[in-house]
Amino acid sequence: MELTILYRGPLASCDYDCPYCPFAKRRDSREQLRADRAALERFTAWVAAQTGDRVSVLFTPWGEGLVRSWYRRAIVELAGLEQVRRVAIQTNLSGRTRWLAEAPAAARERIALWCTYHPGQTPYERFLARCEELKGLGVRHSVGIVGLDDHLGEAHRLRAALADEVYLWVNAAEGHTYTDEEADRWTAIDPLFPYSRHPHRSAGLPCRTGESVISVDGEGTVRRCHFVRAELGNLYDGSYRRALGPRTCPLAVCDCHIGYVHLETLPLYDVFAGGVLERIPAALPLSPVAATGTRGD
Ligand code: SF4
Ligand code: SF4
Repeated sequence: MELTILYRGPLASCDYDCPYCPFAKRRDSREQLRADRAALERFTAWVAAQTGDRVSVLFTPWGEGLVRSWYRRAIVELAGLEQVRRVAIQTNLSGRTRWLAEAPAAARERIALWCTYHPGQTPYERFLARCEELKGLGVRHSVGIVGLDDHLGEAHRLRAALADEVYLWVNAAEGHTYTDEEADRWTAIDPLFPYSRHPHRSAGLPCRTGESVISVDGEGTVRRCHFVRAELGNLYDGSYRRALGPRTCPLAVCDCHIGYVHLETLPLYDVFAGGVLERIPAALPLSPVAATGTRGD
């Protein structure tokens, strides 16, 4: 079986202080960190035992995972498993990249980073230098930014500095409405911005989550995605397997890339073929026509 897993454990702390984030500078207690580590190790061991499946994993922690040694270790371990096609993580890229250099080359090819630049939280030069390190190491990565007016200059600067083969995505800011003129400015940087601009109407539409894609928390509770709360079973007792099957979305809208990328009515599995989890389009650099007429909202 081919299975894509979005994993989110109890970790909910971050070393950054983004004004648009509830996890800014939150601290986990030692006990919470211990629980997060134990949950992640249990998950890693489970994946290691799935020798008959093909598994892809995206870590989507509430906070920052790569500043914790157990996430770095889990990624290298998972990438070394034959049954793992890809292991990716969303990160602010605040940590060093040395751990990636230490991963065996074959494992490194399976690792991917979804990196978000948060202006004001880290010097531009430092973030760019980390991106250069990833490029030098040959680690797959996408780079992105939240589409706030204050970020526009930095986004242009970053786009100009990154190689054409590095995708710079722009996420619509939560609760923000864009005029056509504003949207055009962001689309000039990320031709796929129209997909992010509005929430996608998803009610009753077929979505791969709950069939080939699942969300797993630290307890092993399986849901179809991070947004639909209904449980499908548990990963560790195998009960989730019986529940897998084609389904339509029960929610009115889906407004997060890690959700709507799996909507079958959108062409995003083609756009991101080979890089769905880490948000890397199949053909780079993108042309502005990539998004024309395909918006699902
Ligand atoms: S880096 Fe991410 S998790 Fe951390 S405060 Fe900023 S948005 Fe939140
Ligand atoms: S469309 Fe979004 S909210 Fe609906 S099931 Fe799929 S991922 Fe979940």
